[in-house]
Amino acid sequence: MKKYVYLFNEGNSGMKELLGGKGANLAEMTNIGLPVPFGFTISTEACNAYYESGKTLPNEVMDQVLESLNNLQQKTGKTFGDPSNPLLVSVRSGSVFSMPGMMDTILNLGMNDETVEGIAELTQNARFAYDSYRRFIQMFSDVVLDVDVYYFEQLLEETREQKGYSSDPEMTAEDWKEVIEGYKGIVKKHTRKSFPQDPKEQLFLAIDAVFNSWNNQRAIVYRRLNKIPDHLGTAVNIQSMVFGNMGNDSGTGVAFTRDPSTGEKTLYGEYLINAQGEDVVAGIRTPQHISTLKNEMQEVFSQFSETCDRLEQHYRDMQDIEFTVERGKLFILQTRTGKRTAQAAIRIAVEMVTEGIIDKKEALLRVDPDQLNQLLHRRIDDKYERKQLAKGLPASPGAATGQVVFDADEAEVLGSEGKKVILVRPETTPDDIHGIIAAQAVVTTRGGMTSHAAVVARGMGKACICGCESLKIDLRSKQFSVGDTLVKHGDIITIDGASGEIMLGEIPMIEPELSAEFKQLLAWADEERDLGVRANADNPEDSKKAFEFGAGGIGLCRTEHMFMDAKRIPIVQAMILAENYEERITALDQLLPMQQEDFEGIFEAMQDLPVTIRLLDPPLHEFLPDKEELLVEVTKLQITDPQSSQLKEKEQLLKKVRQLDEFNPMLGHRGCRLGMIHPEIYAMQAKAIFYAAAQMLKKGLQIKPEIMIPLVGHVNELRDMRKLVIEAGRQVKEETGVEVAYTVGTMIEIPRAALTADQIAGEADFFSFGTNDLTQTTFGFSRDDAEGKFLQTYIEDKILPENPFAVLDQEGVGLLVEMGVKLGRQTKPELKTGICGEHGGEKDSIDFCYRTGLDYVSCSPYRVPLARLAAAQATIRHGKRNREESIISVM
Ligand code: ADP
Ligand code: MG
Ligand code: MG
Repeated sequence: MKKYVYLFNEGNSGMKELLGGKGANLAEMTNIGLPVPFGFTISTEACNAYYESGKTLPNEVMDQVLESLNNLQQKTGKTFGDPSNPLLVSVRSGSVFSMPGMMDTILNLGMNDETVEGIAELTQNARFAYDSYRRFIQMFSDVVLDVDVYYFEQLLEETREQKGYSSDPEMTAEDWKEVIEGYKGIVKKHTRKSFPQDPKEQLFLAIDAVFNSWNNQRAIVYRRLNKIPDHLGTAVNIQSMVFGNMGNDSGTGVAFTRDPSTGEKTLYGEYLINAQGEDVVAGIRTPQHISTLKNEMQEVFSQFSETCDRLEQHYRDMQDIEFTVERGKLFILQTRTGKRTAQAAIRIAVEMVTEGIIDKKEALLRVDPDQLNQLLHRRIDDKYERKQLAKGLPASPGAATGQVVFDADEAEVLGSEGKKVILVRPETTPDDIHGIIAAQAVVTTRGGMTSHAAVVARGMGKACICGCESLKIDLRSKQFSVGDTLVKHGDIITIDGASGEIMLGEIPMIEPELSAEFKQLLAWADEERDLGVRANADNPEDSKKAFEFGAGGIGLCRTEHMFMDAKRIPIVQAMILAENYEERITALDQLLPMQQEDFEGIFEAMQDLPVTIRLLDPPLHEFLPDKEELLVEVTKLQITDPQSSQLKEKEQLLKKVRQLDEFNPMLGHRGCRLGMIHPEIYAMQAKAIFYAAAQMLKKGLQIKPEIMIPLVGHVNELRDMRKLVIEAGRQVKEETGVEVAYTVGTMIEIPRAALTADQIAGEADFFSFGTNDLTQTTFGFSRDDAEGKFLQTYIEDKILPENPFAVLDQEGVGLLVEMGVKLGRQTKPELKTGICGEHGGEKDSIDFCYRTGLDYVSCSPYRVPLARLAAAQATIRHGKRNREESIISVM
């Protein structure tokens, strides 16, 4: 016969799947000799058996419950339903993962018209007995019989009024008896049955209710959200009652073994004297801080602190513990691993190593990289009150204050004047990029966590709130309203991207800084990890951040952002609009020193660390004005001023814009295709890099630029571009007399490049997987269209498990990465490989990169600490590898 029911002394903490978290830990605590009120656990398998037999308890389970109940009666010397010495129990649900939405705990089960008298007699406290009984009726009716608590509360209210009382403590035993009669009437009316008097019937009804609650709506939704499988089932714990409400020598409380918000090693919690169960959390009376228990019950307090130490040592982690004191005797009712903030998680992990409780590897595995995000951004100082104006989706963490602007161009202008602005838009598109770059933060009223604004802002480490629907924007009169509040263009607001809150006015902020413990943990991560971590940075400021956060170099420096600068865009446009080669060269000659300056700044920020620079990638029309807008202007001028030179200019511009217009820019004339058709652009960029490197070499820095050609699909493209770079290097050497060491590599971001990586590797010193474009081209999705239109539905309907632009699609896109690495190294074993998409900062994708043999990941500077930790975790999980020492050490 299968075993469905386990006494507390028959289980242990390793049996969570069978006994649920609560049950397994109650058993463990019983076995190590802690004072746990005795009881038994009905297993999750019984829950599944219950559903298999059409929502009835199979006989075997019933029999085993009754047998265990006998055991419990013997152990406690009390009997179910015996008026002279009644056994009362609690019925507590508990699944493998703690799950709000499951059935509430029922206390004092076993009470009926007879046992209540017994209790009154035994405790010499009739008031206590009847109060407990009426609580039990209310709770049981609510949770098990489905009678709304409202009816009970209303009746209680009426009784109090009638008697002229203002609070419950004024009620006498006789008053409670009256209320109980009324309660029973309510039950009869709503269930058409009397309140069950037989304790065993009560027990089985309660067990059914717990099992049923596994499939209630709240629980199902919670499981879906948290990816908890439906087949796990829940366990039920039946435990003899202890009473914290027996007078001033009794009480109940909850405590953490360390402070869950700071991690400090100190007992943290609350208790209430003369109270039962949930009273502490219910907020009816204000609980006291755990430290004052020392004064009220010295003996109990020292026993409790010892128990806390013991539990922490035993579980080797911070615990969250429930306890009750009955007439001066301490009982432990629950222990579990305590939830904590990121800050606390780090401190606890590091201190537990120092205390010898865990080793470094375990400490590294204890902290969830995703949690670190909140520590790496500027945040609002909690000391100041925040008055929330509106709330949207917390799309990108960080906080910001600034003037409201509604237009990307204006954001850019004000931003370049050094003003702090917050860009507020219905939604953003790639045309708004320059505005997002210039703004402190972005707020949109439409779109979700994967909308354009959200993705771009996260990539830049900028705060962002999306889908803030309560905010009504009026673009024409440049203002927005939330209810009656009107916010005009230029008004100051503060936003918190981690909570999604928008506030009026300015609120002081705290700058992110790595605590000593955080630095320690990351230092351990660096010792452990066998995977390089670089940053994506396009300018000296980002490079400095990257350096500060411990990046081992720059994995992607995008040169187009240098072109977007407000002062440079006219020159860039002149270059694009050039009628002939000479005109184009003139414009390029002007751009060259500017690019050179940028590179020098970046090299300087990164010291001797490697920097990968990507040559121009986006299609040229991205640097020109919008076609529609231009058309409107030309039409206007044709009517108002047909002879003007301005019109001629605009017409000329429009002609060019039309020429460059593309049906599908993502797959159009961009990447190395630009370099192939306009080699002079790439040549200028390559020279700027070499000049900058030569300057740095003169200053004594060891610069070895890595020049990266984007969007290669055929080896011949790379062959030509490589020649061009080599030629630029030769020229600069001739002019300056300085020889710059460099490498030339390519991005692998077109499936054909991955498929022919063996050929491509012949022309490349390194590969960097551009998994954003590779995901677009592998799925055939254009990212903005996908995220704006259908991806959300795909994810909700489980067509795709996740947004493949956020979490690397390992089985599809990942296969191409794997193939690229394998084929590339066939040709060139020393080929260096990395990833530079957003995925390089996502923990599961990082794990994949490690397993696939990449040498490094590259991500936004703000995610570098997270990536260092995730890289260490991957190394610990899968073991070190035998990749050439020299290749890793440069990262
Ligand atoms: P939750 O999962 O919501 O914390 P619990 O099952 O832990 O629910 O119980 C709710 C409250 O009832 C807790 O304060 C717990 O300590 C208390 N409680 C549970 N069982 C007993 C018992 N046998 N005796 C006294 N108090 C109990
Ligand atoms: Mg609990
Ligand atoms: Mg790309």
